[in-house]
Amino acid sequence: MKTNIVLLGPPGSGKGTQGEMLSRELGYVRLSTGDMLREAKRDGTPLGLQAKEYMDCGALVPNELIIDLMMERIEELGEGAPVVFDGFPRTVEQADALGDEVDVDLALNLDVDDAELVNRVTRRRSCPKCNAVYHLDFNPPAKPDACDKCGSALYQRDDDKEATFVNRLATYRENTLPLIEYYERRGNLRTIKGTGDIGEIFEKVKDAVL
Ligand code: ADP
Ligand code: ADP
Ligand code: ZN
Repeated sequence: MKTNIVLLGPPGSGKGTQGEMLSRELGYVRLSTGDMLREAKRDGTPLGLQAKEYMDCGALVPNELIIDLMMERIEELGEGAPVVFDGFPRTVEQADALGDEVDVDLALNLDVDDAELVNRVTRRRSCPKCNAVYHLDFNPPAKPDACDKCGSALYQRDDDKEATFVNRLATYRENTLPLIEYYERRGNLRTIKGTGDIGEIFEKVKDAVL
């Protein structure tokens, strides 16, 4: 089994969904910068207050804040724990910092076209408590507006409204897309078609990591 996996892909491509399955079914520790930042925002920590202005407009939080946060989390992990990085790295500078700390065994790129991304993101609903994600049509909760896992009321992220999503997609193209070539050059890239049945995509993800 690959030890350190990076999930690449535009907003809405399924990183959280597949990362969560890797965690549940194969025992990976999932480190999601998006979840960490939203928690920091909710708790009103200094990091959360700083991150808010960037997140709310669909820009990236500055590299130094994110890199410090991730290095702390990596140090807390036991030696050799299998980790899936979700939403990090998002810039070449972050990828270099990660590469200095761990050997990235695999960068899994989820390929989904733009038209489907808009629909996925604007109809995504999230759990504020356990971070589970749903889709109103493709992956609805059993009871409307309630989390299957913990029962909390689901919400729509502010940055999942269409106007902010457009900025996030542009940010992705400018800053994160170059990481595909970055990992390809290192021989670590695997691209998977990210459309279709969630379980079938997970089978391909498993093929790549096992
Ligand atoms: P990301 O973490 O890359 O932003 P998510 O995993 O949160 O993406 O998925 C975005 C939205 O699309 C969520 O509402 C999720 O339920 C839904 N989704 C995930 N995978 C699929 C899929 N294969 N087909 C349809 N919808 C999906
Ligand atoms: P998605 O799952 O839709 O791709 P995330 O939950 O990963 O979105 O990220 C939400 C927001 O948090 C981003 O738009 C960005 O503002 C911030 N963020 C998350 N990860 C990073 C990162 N590695 N570097 C900079 N900003 C980040
Ligand atoms: Zn929940």
